[in-house]
Amino acid sequence: MSKSVELVTPPLREGPYRSLCTDCGVSRLEDPTLCGKACQFIAPDYPALETRVHGRPRDITRPDELHFGPFRAMYRAALNPSREGAQWTGITTRLAEVLLERSLVDAVLTMAPDPDDQWRPRPVLVTNAKDMAQCRGMRMGFAPLLALLEPAREKGYRRLAIIGIPCQVHALRALEAELGFERLYVIGTPCSDNTETDKFHTFLNLLDAKPETITYLEFKADYHVELRYNDGRVRLIPFLKLPISKLPQDFFPLTCRTCVDYTNVLADITVGYMGGTGAQWLIIRNARGEELLTHIQRELVLSAPVSVGKRASSVKGFVENVRRAAGGLPLRAMPDFMRPIMGWLMPRIGPRGLEFARTRVEMKAAETVLHLRRAVPRRMRSMIPDHIWALVKPYGLEPEPGEARSGATRESARAVDTFEKI
Ligand SMILES: Cc1cc2nc3c(=O)[nH]c(=O)nc-3n(C[C@H](O)[C@H](O)[C@H](O)COP(=O)(O)OP(=O)(O)OC[C@H]3O[C@@H](n4cnc5c(N)ncnc54)[C@H](O)[C@@H]3O)c2cc1C
Ligand code: SF4
Ligand code: SF4
Repeated sequence: MSKSVELVTPPLREGPYRSLCTDCGVSRLEDPTLCGKACQFIAPDYPALETRVHGRPRDITRPDELHFGPFRAMYRAALNPSREGAQWTGITTRLAEVLLERSLVDAVLTMAPDPDDQWRPRPVLVTNAKDMAQCRGMRMGFAPLLALLEPAREKGYRRLAIIGIPCQVHALRALEAELGFERLYVIGTPCSDNTETDKFHTFLNLLDAKPETITYLEFKADYHVELRYNDGRVRLIPFLKLPISKLPQDFFPLTCRTCVDYTNVLADITVGYMGGTGAQWLIIRNARGEELLTHIQRELVLSAPVSVGKRASSVKGFVENVRRAAGGLPLRAMPDFMRPIMGWLMPRIGPRGLEFARTRVEMKAAETVLHLRRAVPRRMRSMIPDHIWALVKPYGLEPEPGEARSGATRESARAVDTFEKI
């Protein structure tokens, strides 16, 4: 891998403390009050932003838009050859790299690993295409990506590409018009179950006696976590055997347990893996997303996504468990003797491909409702978009008085109608 000059993060302003905040960087801008307009955790207006960015809001009568947001095309995909150090095959960083190679942008705003802790993200502005190699891979944690928008403007960068997770992309889109950039390419990844980097280290400590030797971790769509080590070893752990019950109660912050956008619906292109059955998963959302794809199409192996299995019983069981946990009741633990059997069965009989992605989106939507209802019920009305209510209605979760916006009941009824036809 080409290692040129180490990417530098300029000094960042401190932002005021905010509850329900993933430090996306807006509170560190010159005007921290912009959070009120930008924040996914205050009063997101997805239909308005989807219309501004994609020309229309999600159409819940079109297959999968209720779950994945507006889109023009979806693919299973792999970059060929895959790139060293990438989280999957490196499509995300390659898209940005090609924009720099072709001088279509002045800089790319993304995360690089902290020199002292490879798992800690830090925001950087990349101007040399070769330096995108240093940004490959996933870090766990939050870092103020958007705080670098002002330094980017001061340096005279007018055309930017940004790689971001959904809460960062929401804030970016909400402020896009007033930021005044000539051109923005927004490359998004899905995101769920993020946590602070320090807490993530406690998870690594539970997984291995020598956590410092782990160089890669991914929750695969085949119900396994893959670990890679610095001596080349690979270890697969079935989800059911993960030491989740040993994690502290506050391991996942409330932001990530109540996040309403799993698939990055406001990006031009979403690059994930959930719906990819072992490959990557591309969601092309608008004309700019289509343009991005054309720049690397010849380097990609593309195929149609598949969808296998039925999600309803998995989601139902999950909702029941979250409901019990949120209500203070003990989780129904699976007996130990069942774990290896279920660990073997789930990749074979569980939902796969697009059905796996729908499963996870519905689980996240149910978590949003149940955790907010327990922790900050007064935020439900402003924080929960109508489509979330539509996603959870088949599982018996409906808004109680004062919890929903006015359109939620109508959206739920239409969505249930669509759900029953699938
Ligand atoms: C915390 C987290 C949770 C995720 N959960 C899911 C999931 O549940 N389902 C799913 O389909 N995909 C998820 N993803 C995305 C997935 O891990 C891959 O990043 C994505 O599939 C792209 O793979 P790639 O090989 O194309 O990426 P690469 O080419 O390796 O590029 C990865 C890009 O992600 C950026 N990045 C890494 N860590 C962070 C971070 N903490 N914050 C912001 N940007 C970061 C890097 O700077 C780089 O630009 C998650 C990503 C993160 C950061
Ligand atoms: S997540 Fe971003 S927009 Fe929201 S409060 Fe934090 S800094 Fe502000
Ligand atoms: S799960 Fe949601 S809130 Fe948490 S880091 Fe990811 S996008 Fe942000």
